[in-house]
Amino acid sequence: MRLIAANWKMNKTVSETEDYIKKFLKLVGKLEDREVLLCPPFTSLYVAGKLLKDTPVKLGAQNCFYEKSGAFTGEVSLPMLKELGCSYVIVGHSERRRIFCESDEVINKKLVACLEEGIRPILCVGERIEDREAGMTFKVVETQIRLALSGIEKYTDSVDIAYEPVWAIGTGVPATPEDAVEVHRFIKEVLKDLNPGSEGRTRVLYGGSVKPENASEFMKHEEIEGLLVGGASLDPESFAKIVNSF
Ligand code: PEP
Repeated sequence: MRLIAANWKMNKTVSETEDYIKKFLKLVGKLEDREVLLCPPFTSLYVAGKLLKDTPVKLGAQNCFYEKSGAFTGEVSLPMLKELGCSYVIVGHSERRRIFCESDEVINKKLVACLEEGIRPILCVGERIEDREAGMTFKVVETQIRLALSGIEKYTDSVDIAYEPVWAIGTGVPATPEDAVEVHRFIKEVLKDLNPGSEGRTRVLYGGSVKPENASEFMKHEEIEGLLVGGASLDPESFAKIVNSF
């Protein structure tokens, strides 16, 4: 089933989250043929979990720490997220890599912890504009995937991957669907090499300036098995349009 995920980033208070979810649930139907996921900030997860309980819309977090508990000031663990009803966690978003200096090694530890806890990670990968211009897109994406999945190659079927070219995130300039398809096909080849026989169980999502106006262009392609949406997911009507666009 294709996955349409909302990454709210550092947006929305608890009361704004309540308003959003009440509106959003009225705008989407039973969602029998697609999976829909909201990833609010940590502070909104408790109330979001209560409102989404017994609905078809899933709850996820935007980040996690890899230890279960302890002296890690400011961090949030996977058991904490699980108790709030999170079934997904976004791992290795380019903003975390760039602004918070998250390394491939840390991302790998987070993925291992997600698998141990039974929470499905969405691993984000993608090249910067200078990588693309230097013809390094495939190399960068492959390296990110191999390092992130190091030692857990056998479990690729418990992970989804979001291809998010950094230059397309929050810029209003998406990749063309054709460029995205090319990278998605490549990612599937890498997965096949890492874990022969399990290809197809890792969904490859596209993210980067997806809007209600362009979502169906991406979803026309079978290689694009879902979307990760930032800015356009902040308004319930806009995100519902994306969810209902294919
Ligand atoms: C994102 O944050 O993952 C993202 C794709 O953002 P935007 O849709 O705003 O480009």
